[in-house]
Amino acid sequence: MARITHLAFRRLDIELAEPFGIATGTQLVAENLLVEVGLADGTLGIGEAAPFPAVNHETRADAERALEAARERLLGLEAETWRAASRRATELLGSAPSALCAFETALLDALTRSVGLSLFAFFGGAKAELISDITLTTGSPEQAAQQAARAYQRGFRLLKVKVGGAPLVHDLERLGRAASVAPDAGLVLDANASMRPEEAIRLVRALGALRERVVLFEQPTAAADIAGLRAVRESGIKVAADESARSFADLERIIDEQAADVVNVKIMKSGVVAALDMATGARAAGLELMVGGMVETRLAMTTSACLAGGLGGFSFVDLDTPLFLAHDPFQGGFEDSWPRLRLAHIERGHGVSLASSSA
Ligand SMILES: [Mg+2]
Repeated sequence: MARITHLAFRRLDIELAEPFGIATGTQLVAENLLVEVGLADGTLGIGEAAPFPAVNHETRADAERALEAARERLLGLEAETWRAASRRATELLGSAPSALCAFETALLDALTRSVGLSLFAFFGGAKAELISDITLTTGSPEQAAQQAARAYQRGFRLLKVKVGGAPLVHDLERLGRAASVAPDAGLVLDANASMRPEEAIRLVRALGALRERVVLFEQPTAAADIAGLRAVRESGIKVAADESARSFADLERIIDEQAADVVNVKIMKSGVVAALDMATGARAAGLELMVGGMVETRLAMTTSACLAGGLGGFSFVDLDTPLFLAHDPFQGGFEDSWPRLRLAHIERGHGVSLASSSA
């Protein structure tokens, strides 16, 4: 059996090449954590915690405190019985989901490296290539046009536009400018829970000719406002739940209340194992799947890509944040030729390691 004999973590401060702005706040430096899990057979796995306070109020200090408090009780868990280990880790780290995610990532990385399997194959090996969207952050209409033109030139054909936190006319102008320089690209709107239902419906109705370009409206309303999410959906636009779907229990409520068409599965908000269960549960209930993340390096993003590609059937892939980093301390993992992400070459675990310059 492969028992956990080592657990360590340290800070990763990752500067962004440009600020990552959403309706509820902006990130300039990703204050993340690197978590290491070592097994009795000597295998080492790594995982990333990427708390994003503007999304769920979790800070890096919260993640560090949770890991420190749980460390002794996580040591000794068996990697092979990873669902049982995950259940125990969820009890101990559940209040700091990014810490849970990093621990589970490192655990599954170590286990799959130990048996010589890629994480992509471990999750099912269904689809070895994913095509990501790219985010247009909050900002001026001019910035939206510049970001969209650059993304379009790089080959992106799905633009996820952060909206909300500003007057409706501002967002309409940004959307219009972005759409005009990216002629056949689809648009996803993401309000990050910042709108009242009637505001979101007003935005949809005001889209005019842009309406046919918009393929999805992600999390228009507050996380707890499931009825609001449903109201926006009933106005005739496809709706994705993100902040409203942090756990399997959240997902069950969304399914019961028919509040969304799509669920955005993120390992960073639920942990890896719960994300796996949420994806399976959502699909069984007829919901479409999206995979996304916080502001993450290729370490967490490759883990999410292995999950989504391994399971297959994800309609929306939003794994673009490595493009926002001034430098990525990691190497390996997915092969990116943006917007394409390839996974078939990964041999063991997620295949990510610290870049030699950062070691
Ligand atoms: Mg979102």
